[in-house]
Amino acid sequence: MRVARRIESLPPYLFAELDRKLAAKRAEGIDVISLGVGDPDLPTPDHIVDAMRDAIADPATHRYPSYYGSPDFRGAVAAWYSRRFGVELDPETEVMALIGSKEGIAHIAFAYVDPGDEALIPDPGYPVYGVSTRLAGGTPVSLSTPAERDFLPDLSTAKVSHRTKAMWMGFPANPTAAVADLNALGEAVGFCRDNDLLLLHDAAYCEITFDGFVAPSVLQVSGAKDVALEFGSTSKSYNMTGWRIGWAVGSADAIKALGVVKTNVDSGQFTAVQRAAIAALEGPEDHLDEIRATYQRRRDVVVQALNGLGWSLKPPLGSCYVWAPVPDGETSTSFANRLLDRAGVFVAPGNGYGERGEGYVRFSLTVPDDRLSEAMDRMATVLS
Ligand SMILES: *Cc1c(COP(=O)(O)O)cnc(C)c1O
Repeated sequence: MRVARRIESLPPYLFAELDRKLAAKRAEGIDVISLGVGDPDLPTPDHIVDAMRDAIADPATHRYPSYYGSPDFRGAVAAWYSRRFGVELDPETEVMALIGSKEGIAHIAFAYVDPGDEALIPDPGYPVYGVSTRLAGGTPVSLSTPAERDFLPDLSTAKVSHRTKAMWMGFPANPTAAVADLNALGEAVGFCRDNDLLLLHDAAYCEITFDGFVAPSVLQVSGAKDVALEFGSTSKSYNMTGWRIGWAVGSADAIKALGVVKTNVDSGQFTAVQRAAIAALEGPEDHLDEIRATYQRRRDVVVQALNGLGWSLKPPLGSCYVWAPVPDGETSTSFANRLLDRAGVFVAPGNGYGERGEGYVRFSLTVPDDRLSEAMDRMATVLS
């Protein structure tokens, strides 16, 4: 039986071949160090696990959750936005719980993109923005984020048509590790207002920043709530990728439209997981310093190793990645293959993040320090 065209329309999964190779190497008993996926290696802080344990034991959490998130959860997200960004949100209309931010990032396309519509997608960028646009029948239109602009989008080259509905961005960025200051976010808000676009800002890494850089929320731009929806998550900042909890905040119209999709597709996230997320947002901040210090230390290990081998990378100010050009004469795939074959180090080829990711690879910092150092030593042996 033939699958739907929307499934056939998806681009091939570029990591499939490498994933197969990785599995084959491991099956041969080769000790491959994977710097591929961005999945924090550190455990969720204890106080969050404890809150979950208590929540699970409470029968009140055993029934269907609220579609939009419990009032306590939405209140906790609003209070965190007020403390962290000075942004006031109405928990009733401007905050919604998600089953991980990826879930909302994917579903928002179904609320705004009709077949034939377009959405501007950062290239390179997180693949879900473009894939969800396609699943909804739309066309992702790539938005250049050139290295010369420190991987910030060049809005002067954005191809807006009468079918363009939305523009995606995410800072600190995966995979480029770019950060945006309030000015850059302000420009994006102005652009979307002028062109009647929904601005979708993915803030999954907003707490993972270095060297004193503090990432702003797009909602700090005045009037942003008219055009912008921001996605957040406990996944990266509290080592909670497995828990599947996030939020969408901002435009009440967009929250309402996303709610129509979600109430028909899912029944919300387990109330106990929402309570654990409340414990994360309201809990002690010291572990956040520790997480930042850990990634900053690892970032330095990778940047110093690469620069010692002839690269000239600026240390990125956020995310848990280092984005690096491949040596002359290589492609993303040939370089990733060489590192895997010769060094037993797995990195993500940049062309998996869009056409303009060709010529780059992404190093994830989510492996223990000693393994990361060993990966860099092995690379040095192969490349020097
Ligand atoms: C990890 C990540 C997320 C977070 O996804 P969750 O579904 O909240 O775990 C969102 N956006 C980007 C770009 C990411 O890399």
